[in-house]
Amino acid sequence: MAVLSFWIIYSQLNNYTESTKIKNENNEKLVLVGEAITRLYEAESLTRNIIQTSNKNMKFQNYTAKVDSIINTIDQLAYVSSDSVQIRKIDSIKILVDNKNKNFAELIDIYKQRNRKGTYQTAIDELKKTNSNFEDYDTNYEKRFKDKSPDKRKLFSNVIELLKKDNEKRLTNETVESLTNTVKEVLAELEAKDRRYRYEIWYKENKLLKNDQVITQKLRDILAHIEQNERNEFKKRFQASSEVMDKTFTFIIIISAISLVIAIIFIVLITGDISKSQKFRNELENEKTYTESLLKTRESLINTVTHDLRSPLNTVIGYSDLLEKTGLNNKQKHYLGHLKKSSDYILHLVNDLLDLSKLEAGRMVIEELPFSPKKLIVNTITSVMPVNDAKNLDIFINTEKELKKQYLGDPFRIKQVLTNLLNNAYKFTDVGSITIDAEITENGLAEKELKISVKDTGIGITKEQQKYIFEEFSQGDDDTEKKYGGFGLGLAITKKIIKLLNGKIRLESEPNKGSNFTFCIPIKLAKNQIPEEEHEVVKIKHFTNKKALIVDDDLSQLDLTSEVVSLMGLSYDICENGLDALELLQKNNYDLILTDIQMPKMDGFELLKNVKEDSKYMDTPIIALSGRTDTTASEYEVAGFSSSLRKPYAPQALIDLVASVLKIDAPDIEYENPITDQEEESDYSLSDLMLFAHGDSESLYAILETFCDSTTDHIKELKTAVATNDGDLEQIKRLAHKMLPMFKQIKAKEIVPILDTLEHLDNYELNSEEVLSLTKEGIQKIENLIDKLKVKH
Ligand code: ADP
Repeated sequence: MAVLSFWIIYSQLNNYTESTKIKNENNEKLVLVGEAITRLYEAESLTRNIIQTSNKNMKFQNYTAKVDSIINTIDQLAYVSSDSVQIRKIDSIKILVDNKNKNFAELIDIYKQRNRKGTYQTAIDELKKTNSNFEDYDTNYEKRFKDKSPDKRKLFSNVIELLKKDNEKRLTNETVESLTNTVKEVLAELEAKDRRYRYEIWYKENKLLKNDQVITQKLRDILAHIEQNERNEFKKRFQASSEVMDKTFTFIIIISAISLVIAIIFIVLITGDISKSQKFRNELENEKTYTESLLKTRESLINTVTHDLRSPLNTVIGYSDLLEKTGLNNKQKHYLGHLKKSSDYILHLVNDLLDLSKLEAGRMVIEELPFSPKKLIVNTITSVMPVNDAKNLDIFINTEKELKKQYLGDPFRIKQVLTNLLNNAYKFTDVGSITIDAEITENGLAEKELKISVKDTGIGITKEQQKYIFEEFSQGDDDTEKKYGGFGLGLAITKKIIKLLNGKIRLESEPNKGSNFTFCIPIKLAKNQIPEEEHEVVKIKHFTNKKALIVDDDLSQLDLTSEVVSLMGLSYDICENGLDALELLQKNNYDLILTDIQMPKMDGFELLKNVKEDSKYMDTPIIALSGRTDTTASEYEVAGFSSSLRKPYAPQALIDLVASVLKIDAPDIEYENPITDQEEESDYSLSDLMLFAHGDSESLYAILETFCDSTTDHIKELKTAVATNDGDLEQIKRLAHKMLPMFKQIKAKEIVPILDTLEHLDNYELNSEEVLSLTKEGIQKIENLIDKLKVKH
């Protein structure tokens, strides 16, 4: 509407200005006519002036210049006029001006002729024509006789003078009378001529003036005509512009009316809309309050449920662990396996739900603590990757030196993110490898960024799935849960934590090729840097895909050996005697067997014999790990073992031995020792065990826990042995042998000699009473130590 109205008003205004242009043209014509009239008056006064003055030549030039300028003006007028009547009139004016010019020229001519001869000369001339007596003699004899010599010239002039004098004497009365008559006649004639001349001048002047009047009249006519025209034009223009104004006015009224109608329609629509949106808004607000209350209820429900679930679950898991160590048969172990799996699953879900509700409620607190990213990454990988990796995946870790430095950030949350990504990578990859790349990048500001990527060669994620897998309870497809388990919370939590840490996560993935999750988190370089050597942790080059079977009847020793084997990147199975070992060997494939020698049911030698009989294991290396001091290394080798190691052994010794037997790289173990000097000086030392736990206190306490449990069992057995008749010496020897390596490992200064004596009773001449009292002393000391250790962990 606005554009249309603008266009119409614009075109009306255009029309209006067109008519003003015409008015200007007419004004110009009027000015030109006025100019012509003025110049004509000036020419007239010049004419009069010329007639009256004597210097006619000079004035006549002025007059012709004026007439030229009049013709010029008239030409211009003809040029601007388009009206044919006007043009005709202008042409006739030009002719009149021409005539006037001619008349005036003639008049001037007359004047000039008149002036050429004086009245006297004319009279003399006329008299000479009539009477020869008026002949004039030239008295200028010098001129007349210029071709004569001066003497002759003088003579002639004297003669002429004499003749003139003589003539005078001959003038008679008769001649005088005739002369007078002649003069009268001539003068009368001259008078008549003069009268004619005056009449002629009068006539010409009159003609000139008349001509001027005619011209002036014609010019006035033209002026009047133009003025009339102008009046008519003005009338027309006035009519046109009032028409334009009328049209515009009507148009404005129409537009206003239409606009008013439109405005009313819009007001009605908008009011309707506003009231509708107000209604929706109210509804939304109600819904929002309702949703918020629902969310709050959900949060408190999740909190209550998860908290209430966690404590009983921990009890279930704790007791399952204990139950596992009580020597169960295979069926019971199978049931227990299910029990543990389910409780782990629930615990995982409960923990995830708790995290999610904390994140959603904004209650997850972010800490700023010093940590070494490299140590964090290696620890996370070691704790996430299953020890018995049935899939034999290769794990590659690429880290740069910068990561060893101390940074400020939230190591717990970073570990949680990395754990989730690693768990997924492992879960969704059946063959191939998992690669962890980590680096520190500058983010342009004072801060740095920790960039970690977890890349796998697993099932991958389609572009469609990538859009929603970061949402809560969303999984790749419907089969994912059935096939791989999980509840679709891991990535949602991961993304929320990363957002909380001001970081970013990116996913690149191709179905059936693998996925690559990369996240960046801003961290700051810590001011206090711990020298590198002190915080160096275990270096893992990469995990091998080899698998070992560890056989030992002492659970603590099993724990220690398993720690070392897992540290090397080997997967493993464990069992407590030779018979179980044979069963496992049948079911699975192993690249290495590590076995204790003295065991119930079937000892190490017998096991070796049985294994070597099986063609599958003919070339499989078997290492003897025994606390026996009476068997030498060569004896083991002769028997068929690839190598042997005496307990207690240093972890590095076992690592080197296994590495050389399997022909793989041996990782160097360096670790941070959390054991204080004060503890070192006491009656036992945990520093050796720390080596097995590769610096990780949690692993150390796990080993200690197993040790305490199995030692408590052994003490029970020892007490029974002491109580039987006069003491079951064989049983005491056996138990002492079994227990000795672990006590040597923890350097229990007082207990080791007692157990050593009890193991080698044959070498000492002791009666049974002495043996029993020594055993009781040993039991006492061991119990004291176990109490101390229990307090510790
Ligand atoms: P969950 O693993 O418990 O199902 P997540 O939130 O951790 O839940 O993952 C959501 C979904 O993203 C998974 O169900 C899976 O489909 C997909 N996904 C996550 N990580 C990977 C991966 N590394 N490879 C293939 N798919 C993945």
